[in-house]
Amino acid sequence: MSKFKCLICGMTINLESYGLNSNTFIKRNQKDNIINCPFCGVGKIYLGDEKDIYEVDNSNLDTKTLKVLDNAMKFEVFNGEFYEEASKLAKDKAVRELFKDLKNIEFMHARIHKRLGGFENLPKLHKPDYTRHNTDKLLLEEAQKREEHAIAFYKKNSEIVCSDIIRDIFQALSDVEKQHEIITSSHPMKR
Ligand SMILES: [Zn+2]
Repeated sequence: MSKFKCLICGMTINLESYGLNSNTFIKRNQKDNIINCPFCGVGKIYLGDEKDIYEVDNSNLDTKTLKVLDNAMKFEVFNGEFYEEASKLAKDKAVRELFKDLKNIEFMHARIHKRLGGFENLPKLHKPDYTRHNTDKLLLEEAQKREEHAIAFYKKNSEIVCSDIIRDIFQALSDVEKQHEIITSSHPMKR
């Protein structure tokens, strides 16, 4: 297989990495057919080997845009930490594996926002107690809610940011969250 670079997260997709986080995709990558970045989930139009990764000069971003990126980084960490907890709480092995993969993708989204905003560190958040979600069905319902919230966040904030590159990235990430929404809402353990 040829080697790709993800223009959104900057990671390299090769024989070792193409199959990572496969539970988060409706159609999984094949060795000879790469559909999504296995690290951040974006579609293949964002994968290449010649173009440069999407970058912005954060000294040119206005305060509103920086605030949006800060909020985006925080909610992706919040969701990543939810999935980390959910992967420990879930009873079904396939659900645990799905949550683990979702955790990896959401943390990668947080790192993308960190890079765009030029922030020093990922935030340390107060972790809520999720043990009241004591069935896999409740965990999947919570996951679906978070994905819907993420899609709405990217839509609303696309109108606020001052950069077309950031708007493009929000669109790409929102499409990733749409796949997550479909997978969590139609999961067999949810019935
Ligand atoms: Zn990527």
